[in-house]
Amino acid sequence: MYKCPHCGKKSIPLWKKLIMDPRYNYKCKECGGYINTPYYYIVLISVVTLIVLYFSKEVLLFKAQQIKLEIIILVVIFEIINLIFIPVAKKDKTNSC
Ligand SMILES: [Zn+2]
Repeated sequence: MYKCPHCGKKSIPLWKKLIMDPRYNYKCKECGGYINTPYYYIVLISVVTLIVLYFSKEVLLFKAQQIKLEIIILVVIFEIINLIFIPVAKKDKTNSC
């Protein structure tokens, strides 16, 4: 469980953090405050993905099947980064869409 940045209670389940999309807002079930993963997580994912794809193409000349495997590995790595290093951030109600 993860701590809510609003009320400090451990109200955010692991699965919810895994599926959090920075474009949307999620509610803390304890206090009703809006939470999400920070936007820089998307930037981090994009940059690392581009670097990895670039080098795998240039250096390793991966075939289509291996690229699929690579994407799966990347997703797993990003979810681990998400769970360990990326904090749950506060979201402003005014930002909701
Ligand atoms: Zn809360």
